[in-house]
Amino acid sequence: MDFKLSKKEAHNFLLKLQEEYKVFGPKSYKGEGRYSDIDSIRYGEINSFDEVVYEKKSNYSPKEVLLPINHLYAVKIGEQVIRNYEKEDKKKLIILRSCDIHAIERLDKKFSKDDYYNEKRKGVKFIVMECPKAFDTCYCLSVGTNKTDNYSMGIRFLEDGISIKIKDSDFDKFIDDSYSKDNFELAFATENTTKVNVPHMENWDKQTFDKTKDLSLWKEYSKRCIGCGSCNISCPTCTCLTTKEVKSETSDVIEIRRIWNGCQLVKSNSLKKKNLSEIVPTRIRQRVLDKFYMSQVETSNEQDCVGCGRCTDICPRLINFSNTVNRFSLELDKIYEEEGFNN
Ligand code: SF4
Ligand code: SF4
Repeated sequence: MDFKLSKKEAHNFLLKLQEEYKVFGPKSYKGEGRYSDIDSIRYGEINSFDEVVYEKKSNYSPKEVLLPINHLYAVKIGEQVIRNYEKEDKKKLIILRSCDIHAIERLDKKFSKDDYYNEKRKGVKFIVMECPKAFDTCYCLSVGTNKTDNYSMGIRFLEDGISIKIKDSDFDKFIDDSYSKDNFELAFATENTTKVNVPHMENWDKQTFDKTKDLSLWKEYSKRCIGCGSCNISCPTCTCLTTKEVKSETSDVIEIRRIWNGCQLVKSNSLKKKNLSEIVPTRIRQRVLDKFYMSQVETSNEQDCVGCGRCTDICPRLINFSNTVNRFSLELDKIYEEEGFNN
């Protein structure tokens, strides 16, 4: 059933939802953007639908609702390790776009055995936001993430309120008899300006892998990439974590914290052994392969990249990931041709 709610009704609807759920959405954080005086759009708990930034793409993904950037994973007392993740007091509702729902489906597979993630993921439901007009750097259609059926409610933001589509009957009880009925189809992107040729990996083998190692395109990036890792941090499907032990100054307790890490993040200790121009080509190649090949092997034929374009948006050196992938696809097809495959 679909309903149209005025701003006041929408607010009361949210208050009712909050009795059972914490509601998260993309919101603006003043002055926290990549340049001074620029806001950052990322996920946080909302207390009004007016807080939701729906006309711009969020710089960071909803991944941080399920896996905060720096989280307490366990505590160590002497030799004993106790998993000490906070238990969730309420279920969660996340307002997000179709591509980010696809990204969470990938995280679910990767973290299926991770008890911290599974605790955070328990009882999470989605409110899908309409996304009728893709942003310039998105290529959701190339990777099939522009639409989804995996949501409990759909939302359309209006000047004077919201339209809401209820798909999951668990939410019927939050609907007031006085709300006006509506009838609408959720609008998903049907066109992208950016298009990506997903690399053909069916014929991939050790010989192909060796041939791709020395492609000149990887070396070109060493003139640009500074190894800042921003592309990893903004990516909804990057999942590298590092573990850090933090000792308490007043007791024997040691906190074991997990912090986001990334393959593109070049640390100063790596630079003591090799310089950036040696590290970058391997890292960029690894990122492309991880997003388009390893993930297919590990998670039943799905590439990892959901085409959100955030890595391109955020790169301080203007490295465009879709161009990188397209160039790799082209080179790979040439290699297959040499090997006698016809793609
Ligand atoms: S690799 Fe880039 S475009 Fe693909 S999901 Fe990650 S951030 Fe989005
Ligand atoms: S954001 Fe750009 S410069 Fe930074 S590591 Fe990624 S590709 Fe390199």
